Amino acid sequence: YCANEPNKLVSDACVSYATLENLNADLRPSIRYLTEQVDFFTYYRLDLFGRECPFWSDDEGFCGNRACAVDIADEKDIPVSWRSSELGKLAGPKASQPSTSVQKEEPSPFRGKLGEDTAESCVFEPNEIDKRDYCVPEDESGSSNCVYVSLVDNTERFTGYAGKSANNVWRAVYQENCFNTNTPKSQQAQPFGAALPFRGPAAANLKNVMDRKKHEVVQQDLIAPPPEEQCLEKRVFYRVLSGMHASISMHLCYDFLNQTTGKWGPNLQCYKDRLHSYPDRIQNIYFNYAILLRAVAKLRRNLKSYTFCSGDKRTDEATRKKIVGLADTIAARPSVFDESIMFHGEDAVVLKEDFRNRFLNVSRLMDCVGCDKCRLWGKIQTSGYGTAMKVLFEYDEEAENGANPTLRRTELVALVNTLGRLSASLNAFTEFTKMMEQERALE
Ligand code: FAD
Repeated sequence: YCANEPNKLVSDACVSYATLENLNADLRPSIRYLTEQVDFFTYYRLDLFGRECPFWSDDEGFCGNRACAVDIADEKDIPVSWRSSELGKLAGPKASQPSTSVQKEEPSPFRGKLGEDTAESCVFEPNEIDKRDYCVPEDESGSSNCVYVSLVDNTERFTGYAGKSANNVWRAVYQENCFNTNTPKSQQAQPFGAALPFRGPAAANLKNVMDRKKHEVVQQDLIAPPPEEQCLEKRVFYRVLSGMHASISMHLCYDFLNQTTGKWGPNLQCYKDRLHSYPDRIQNIYFNYAILLRAVAKLRRNLKSYTFCSGDKRTDEATRKKIVGLADTIAARPSVFDESIMFHGEDAVVLKEDFRNRFLNVSRLMDCVGCDKCRLWGKIQTSGYGTAMKVLFEYDEEAENGANPTLRRTELVALVNTLGRLSASLNAFTEFTKMMEQERALE
């Protein structure tokens, strides 16, 4: 399908910038509708304050700016079947969730009383990491640490979070990119657990770096991008991280607080410093948009029978129609990313496990972000990319529902909102480009 593309291609994606821009112009209204108007996609349930950073303790890293704060949603505004009281019913007084294996063997003792039209999958989602997860799942089990957040009331924008804490997180994120497939499997990256936070050579290296640099702000390039001759999988891993970082920078520059006037708006200098001078970063935003589009298109069949659980059948049908409509529109266009060419070759199994564990670690690093709003959107976006990877690498597009891994509500919400963030980034890029042209014309 690359042969159909006469324009400049986004590396590794086999689609041109122009094609993605045209696609975004067509899709943006329905992506905005889903992420701004549809309850299912505008409320996110997560453990925002309860999880400690499993890698280092950084008491000074907390951002006290008003812009860093998150407004928690009142549960009265949330459909009944999503409230903690309903979720908690299933797991008894301690609100702990039985393991997936227990659920399968003896489901009945854990069943609470659900509303007549409420499917069990509405309130009972496994929160253990499955071997096909690329991201630590948010706890949907009704744990008291979890809160609902309206993503419309807590938009991603400039917060002022910066300095040592933010730098440490970004450095640790890129550190996960240090693949070494020649290393024996036993020494490759393992998912970090709270009890054993640092494992594998990259992790050991990271711990050393973190110990050494604890009180130092580092502004130089964090980790150089992998050379082009490196294998596709490693380049993809880097592009996803760099594209996520670039998209966050795009939003904070586009929705920036002018501290003199007190007004919010685009900051062209911020864009020039962080993005315009680095075309590779912009390319990585386009790359991420391509893989998220492919993941949503691949879910087309699954979404047709997905349980949306608002408690109101008509609302659920309207939600389904919208998201399936989006997936159908994307799928009707030539495919923008071909995941089937990844993870072949003799070390494919080890490489894939390494890739997955590294991304799990990146998602855990979000608990180290010292600004609540940045942590919220960091968690949503790592979960969105993790979900996209799960769909791309673990889903069979043609299989009946039930044959594929479970798609949790938090994963689907994160996937669609991450697509929304990338769509907004492409839009902001167009606007900044116009501003650059206007500035040049005045010179
Ligand atoms: P940083 O953006 O911190 O970058 C550090 C270094 O990384 C740069 O010097 C450069 O060498 C390298 N780098 C930068 N971009 C890329 C890229 N795309 N690819 C590869 N390398 C790169 N701030 C907000 O105002 N709002 C937010 O919503 C927000 N969310 C955040 C979410 C997370 C998960 C984190 C860790 C931080 C967040 N921040 C947010 C902070 C923000 O990302 C910056 O860290 C902060 O503005 C300081 O910027 P900086 O100029 O020091 O460079």
